[in-house]
Amino acid sequence: MVVQPKLIIHGGAGSSLQGKGGLKAVRKSLYQVIDEVYALLLTGASAKEAVVRGCQLLEDDPRFNAGTGSVLQSDGQIRMSASLMDGTLKRFSGVINVSRVKNPIDLAVFLQNASDHVLSDYGAAELARELQLPLYNPLTDQRLQEWLEDRKDNFKRSMANVVSESAGTGTIGVVALDQNGQLAAGTSTGGKGFERIGRVSDSATPAGNYATDQAGVSCTGIGEDILDECLAAKIVTRVTDGQTLKAAFDKSFAEAHDRQRDFGAIGIDATGAIAWGKTCDVILAAFHDGQNRGDSLEAPQGTQVFSGIS
Ligand code: ASP
Repeated sequence: MVVQPKLIIHGGAGSSLQGKGGLKAVRKSLYQVIDEVYALLLTGASAKEAVVRGCQLLEDDPRFNAGTGSVLQSDGQIRMSASLMDGTLKRFSGVINVSRVKNPIDLAVFLQNASDHVLSDYGAAELARELQLPLYNPLTDQRLQEWLEDRKDNFKRSMANVVSESAGTGTIGVVALDQNGQLAAGTSTGGKGFERIGRVSDSATPAGNYATDQAGVSCTGIGEDILDECLAAKIVTRVTDGQTLKAAFDKSFAEAHDRQRDFGAIGIDATGAIAWGKTCDVILAAFHDGQNRGDSLEAPQGTQVFSGIS
């Protein structure tokens, strides 16, 4: 039986997106990725292939805080993290705090079939060298200027302004359901910005990116809050244990709201339901449900779930 593919992506979450100029540009960027990756799913690509392509495209877009355009850490260096989870194999892989590569998700792809599934800075750099990935500087002028501005203020902000009218940026994530009914999730980030050296992002942990054969979820926002809620694994486990995607999102976001967490998430389940949720003002999510594209850019706070079995 051929299943209708589903796709949802995000480009981060955070404070308010004001100004239609910023909003329009973000929507255009997200829909370009949706169009290319959804078309790929229609050709029969696997969920994992689609997720990887979506992550690469979003990493390459300097608007988003992953790959090219990653934010700088407190010492002015870029360190990126990315992970990939194959819901069918139930296999997680990722890299933590890797530098000088163009697409950190490519390292996570390689690690899916290696005996060690998650590598941190030194090991990730060694792997990039072994794979002969060309050295790449993901720094953009805009990120440097943002870091210099914040340095003047002695880094008082708790997180880089990854969602703003000017930058309109954020961590990226992709969740897909393919024609065979298989699910995968991928997430990639430059981190929250201005963090201490060695800080580990949620994005390369199952708290930030998780999938089984029943559901897949990718998160964005304050990584410490996502880790404390173990958000992606919690939502996916709730669905795997029998809750609908909507019930799992609603419950997890109600709990998070009560605990004043600051984040968002996207997800798809095996029935084809698509969801996003947020406790913060904005999550830059866009989706394709087989009939229509849609997005969350102007949505009120809360969770929203689309589609059903198709
Ligand atoms: N979750 C990421 C982190 O804390 C940041 C983000 O999603 O923008 O590293």
